[in-house]
Amino acid sequence: MSSPDAGFGDAIQRDRTNVRTPMRCPLCGGELTQVYIRDLGGITAGITWQLHAGRCATHDEHGWFQAEVVGKPPREIFPVARPFGQTKRLVVDGREVYSFATVWNDAPTAVQMQRVDPLDPQYWTVRRHAYNL
Ligand SMILES: [Zn+2]
Repeated sequence: MSSPDAGFGDAIQRDRTNVRTPMRCPLCGGELTQVYIRDLGGITAGITWQLHAGRCATHDEHGWFQAEVVGKPPREIFPVARPFGQTKRLVVDGREVYSFATVWNDAPTAVQMQRVDPLDPQYWTVRRHAYNL
């Protein structure tokens, strides 16, 4: 697969593309396209440490999002200017948003202490959508 952006340089070489992520668009809940997963290596053997990035497949204006997985589901999903780029500001319902908290924050402590699958989609839901279900 060729790089969609030559500016990524060498970094793109260790990124996986055309992969699936549990992350969905925090704005519309839709699937992401152009998904990248960057493996950052294990701190400890068996720990999943990855950066996930993808673009809203439904609405171009929603743009790119990314989240970091370090052995646990992510606590936040960030809007970014491009995959693995800087966090950008979004305005949602008139409020500035720099990140979207996931329902993993709301999991009981007992669950958070357990060994859960960090890629389990139920924990990647953003709070706003959880309450709108
Ligand atoms: Zn969207």
